[in-house]
Amino acid sequence: SWLEKKRQGKVQKRICQVVLEHFEKQYTAELGDAWSRVRDVLTSPWCWQHALLLNRFSQSPGLESSLAEQGYQPAFPAALPYLPAAFRCYSRPAPGRFPAQKHQPGRLKDYYLLNAASLLPVLALEAEDGEDVLDLCAAPGGKSVAILQCACPGHFHCNEYDDLRSRWLEQTIESFIPGPLMNLIRISKLDGRQIGDLQPEFYDKVLVDAPCSNDRSWLFSADPQQALLRLMQRKELSSLQFQLLRSAVKALRPGGSLVYSTCTLSKAENSDVINLILNSCRNVMPVDISGMARGVSQEFTFLSGMQQHELLVLPERGRAWGPMYVAKLKKVS
Ligand code: SAM
Repeated sequence: SWLEKKRQGKVQKRICQVVLEHFEKQYTAELGDAWSRVRDVLTSPWCWQHALLLNRFSQSPGLESSLAEQGYQPAFPAALPYLPAAFRCYSRPAPGRFPAQKHQPGRLKDYYLLNAASLLPVLALEAEDGEDVLDLCAAPGGKSVAILQCACPGHFHCNEYDDLRSRWLEQTIESFIPGPLMNLIRISKLDGRQIGDLQPEFYDKVLVDAPCSNDRSWLFSADPQQALLRLMQRKELSSLQFQLLRSAVKALRPGGSLVYSTCTLSKAENSDVINLILNSCRNVMPVDISGMARGVSQEFTFLSGMQQHELLVLPERGRAWGPMYVAKLKKVS
């Protein structure tokens, strides 16, 4: 059946021309020469890579040696002090996918498959044991799981507005986190724009992994009409992102910090949104993340000329991670 072929990766993804043409114009203007190299990766799904984030809460004897046999190596070897010892991530330069584990009630999964760039917002967040942490837009839960590999928060609030996706988030958390730790975790289905007013000055760290134009998947939209509509409505995303960020600022305690991330290259959803927050909230300051970027520069290609509080991962052959934009801000009062 078609579904079976899709599962086996035998269905050819087709590039959606309207989206490609739109990106071509916008990203040539915004990224210059770099765009043609990025386009080459984004339009060649056969060279996409995956990383495995190992679950520190599961016993998986033999997994690491089997990964080594298949050419996987520990990722981020030079990223200390941003990484605790319990944080284990593997990747390999060759494309291809390690099999995903099925959900089995009562059994913890051993690893989470992801785009390695998705870990950068989590590393930038630097969550510490005992802190109160909010993941504002959390489904399907990859970054929530990654945060719990780095630290044991005093209280961890994972929020997702969409009903279906919220159930997916619950399932992810259940399959990675042992029962006793679940007491620290609250899963909610709120509009993230309201959490700042509902819980003002409550959190030490907030992750805003915002809804955005997902460049990688939009390029393979199956329905060109729907793709066109999404492109036309793209401007509304910046306004939603700004409101989510403003809510995150309210939810932070003075001295707390937030990380904003998207998986688009679009400046309107990245630097422009961050600049708008910096210009409209006097109590918010940029935080330098260039040290972290240097620590992981062997694994990722970054757009040059960014400011110190932000980075943009550009996918490249052999390092096909991203797109991923990350910015860090601190609430000073
Ligand atoms: N952080 C997730 C992860 O690593 O697995 C991915 C998050 S995804 C980029 C953005 C999510 O924000 C989507 O699941 C979307 O349904 C959710 N979302 C959209 N509008 C929202 C809102 N107003 N409040 C909270 N979440 C929202």
